[in-house]
This record gives sequence, C-alpha cells and structure tokens, in this order.
Amino acid sequence: MDINKIREQFPILSIKIDGKSYYYFDNAATTQKPQKVIDTVNEIYSLQNSNIHRGAHYLSNLLTDRFEQARIKVQHFINAEHREEIIFTYGTTSSINLLSYSFGEAFVGEGDEVITTELEHHSNIVPWQILCERKKAKLKYIPLAKDGALDIDRLESLITPKTKLVTIAQVANSTGSVNDVKKVVKIAHSHNIPVLIDAAQSIQHMKVDVQELDCDFLAFSGHKIYGPTGIGVLYGKKEWLEKLPPFMGGGEMIDRVTMERTTYNCLPFKFEAGTPNYVGAIGLGAAIDFVNEVGIEEIASYEKSLYDYALQKAEENTNLLIIGPETGKISVLSFVHKSIPSGDLGFFLDKWGIAIRTGNHCAQPAMDFFGVPGTARLSIAMYNTREEVDYFFEKLKEAELFFGV
Ligand code: PLP
Repeated sequence: MDINKIREQFPILSIKIDGKSYYYFDNAATTQKPQKVIDTVNEIYSLQNSNIHRGAHYLSNLLTDRFEQARIKVQHFINAEHREEIIFTYGTTSSINLLSYSFGEAFVGEGDEVITTELEHHSNIVPWQILCERKKAKLKYIPLAKDGALDIDRLESLITPKTKLVTIAQVANSTGSVNDVKKVVKIAHSHNIPVLIDAAQSIQHMKVDVQELDCDFLAFSGHKIYGPTGIGVLYGKKEWLEKLPPFMGGGEMIDRVTMERTTYNCLPFKFEAGTPNYVGAIGLGAAIDFVNEVGIEEIASYEKSLYDYALQKAEENTNLLIIGPETGKISVLSFVHKSIPSGDLGFFLDKWGIAIRTGNHCAQPAMDFFGVPGTARLSIAMYNTREEVDYFFEKLKEAELFFGV
C-alpha cells in the first residue's frame, strides 16, 4: 500500500488550520472522502441529477441504472447471494430501526425476548428497548467479562424458547474489540434464532462476507467507509426479508394502491419508501470501488500494523488506562488519562490540530461497566501514518507537562 498515493486522494488531509496540519483520528465517527467519491457526488448534482425509478427520460434512466449498479457493488462487496437482499437506508441507525420495527411487528410478541450486548452502540440498544416496550417483550444482554471482552459463552444460557433475535456489533466503537460474531451465529442458529450484525465499525477495516458469517441481517453506514453521509445498508437474507412487513409507507414501496388497501412492491423496494438517497448510494458505490482498488486485505494489514504501533506507544505511558481487552482489538484506541480529564485532553490536542473524540461514544452501558463517564478515543483509518501517531504521542506528553502531571 502506497500511503502517500492514498493520502493524495483525500483533499481534506492537506488542509491547514491556523497554519497547522490537521491530524484526523476521529475515523470511528466518520471517515474522510476520497476525490473519487467527491467527484461522483459532484458529477451527479452538476450534470446528471434527476429522481430515479419513475422517469421516462434520459437522466432519470441513467441515474436509476447507476443506483442499481451501486446496489450490485454493495452486494458483491459483502458477498450477498442476491441483489435484492441489499436495502438502501440512511445509515446503520436507520437500518437497525427498520429491522427492529419490521421484525418486531412480525415476530416479537408479549413475553418474547431479544438479546443484544452490553458493549453496543446506543443504536443497537435503544431501538430494541423501544420494540420491547411496545410489545411487552424483554431485552437481555450478553455481558462484558472481567477482561473487558464480551462473554460470548454466556449466550447459550441466555437463550430460551422465547428468544426471537440476537444482535451484536462485529467491532465495538467504544473499545475496538472484535467480537466473535461467527460463534454467536452458530449458537443462535443451533436454536433457529436469526442474528443481526452491526458492521458499522468493521466494514471499513476487514473483509465482511455475509455468506461466510451466515448472518441473517447486517447493517452498516456509508459515511464510515469513505462514502457520503445519509446512506446506509441493511442486508437481509431473502427468505427473512420476504416474511417482514414494510417499515415505512409511501411511494416506490407499493405494487397497487386503492383507497381500501395497498399491496406491496417486491424486494428490495418494499423497504425503500420515498425518494431514496440515490446520490448517496451512487457515492457509496464509488467508495466501494475505491476500497476495492486499494484492497480490503491490504487495508486491514496496514491498519493492524499502525494500530499495534499506537497501542504499544500507549502502553508505554503508565498514566494511560487503556479501555477494553488487552488483545483482539482493531482501529480504536480508547483510553482514560489518570490525571487529565478526557475533555480537557481533547481540547488541548485540538489546539495542535489533532482530532480525537472524547465522551461516552454512544455506549453508556459499556462506560458504566468500565466505571468511567467517557474516554479519549483515537481511531485510525487507511490514510493515517506512523508520523501522525508519533505526533499524537508527542503532543500527549506536552499535555502532561501543561497540566502539571
Ligand atoms: N453502531 C456502531 C458500532 C457505531 O459505531 C455507530 C456510529 O458510530 C452506529 C452504530 C451508528 O451509525 P450511524 O450514526 O451512522 O447510524
């Protein structure tokens, strides 16, 4: 991987703020966009914009075609068996809400159970809480173990005949831990229970193959994999999606509407009510092309060596308490400084052009487990470098001097 060539493709990486370079380590929140994605979005708005699907004219047909091509790119990228298993949504949150509503309507009743984990982002907890409240069902959690990793072995004992669905993130945004989702699928499937994987923090860092994982549903956001904001994906096995009712009603999701009743469109359109974010979807297709050109395996191995380097530097600083398990983490370095509050540290580093995120990372149950209100989180992407990591730790040392540590 030629890191300089990659960096050249991200215009934002060369901006200066107050004359200083910008060191972007907030990639778990959102990734920056390569020129290819920017050009694609720009080209559509400049030269091709038109609403898709219902047009009888050139631009509408062109963009309909590009939109459906983007769907096929996503299909191949995650190795889904069928094109219609890819539903465009507005992001991971939107995908999970779609599924929790729709699956919940069809399959969850009073006294039933859904299992999530203590390590989830709020977007894989709250929609299930809302569903369970609506249906008088129960939400259970795979707990965190002492070592800071999920205790996946507890899943078996949490499952009962009332369990309807299990959901888990492949990579935790608050700690970077990689969860053994394959094992979760195996256990759940041995009880005929479907599994949703939240791939918001894995899709950009590792090969995600839905057939190999054998998951029933999978969600991710375009903006975290170098694509535009406002676009996301819900993958679902065709046999499941066919059984689920629509989430939102409106245009495009219908087959026939009379004043008495409506019959619904086929997959995937049944779940894509209204004008979709076709610009975002086509932009996501361009982001996937970009990732494919670099190679997801190359990205994974480059990021691993950079992550290991950052982790080692963090471990050398005895003032840092690293959050999460010791091993089995990628991309996210989450820590608490023994003497400097995370917010103050973030503020200090920002003055030196370093962008990290501080706070609870929308994972308050996990923060409660670790006994901290929040952490400082450095998260890496394919364009980060060792020099940037060195700069970060140099400025961290300066912060310690500044705060009198
Ligand atoms: N799940 C995980 C693990 C995340 O890290 C995030 C965002 O940080 C989300 C879900 C929600 O993603 P979005 O805000 O793009 O819907």
